[in-house]
Amino acid sequence: MIVILTSERLQVSGTFLCMDCQAVIKDVPQQFKYSPPTICRNPACNNRSRFHLDTHKSKFIDFQKVTVCESMCVSVHTRGTHTHMVLMTV
Ligand SMILES: [Zn+2]
Repeated sequence: MIVILTSERLQVSGTFLCMDCQAVIKDVPQQFKYSPPTICRNPACNNRSRFHLDTHKSKFIDFQKVTVCESMCVSVHTRGTHTHMVLMTV
């Protein structure tokens, strides 16, 4: 039997910086992909495409994934803080 523990980091919301007016746009939901804001929140600014993601102010969730391979492989997702992979053969 093989047990594989892996850790995945999922971004749940992002803080973006407008590259035109330097406005900070917080808490932009991220759904499994990079999702910049559709428009700058500064009413005087019409920027729709030039945003910089500030990873230090963005929110992440760490997921721990346990994969058990016996006759067939199954995956279980649990929340955890492990950041390394462990491979064991029993
Ligand atoms: Zn702007």
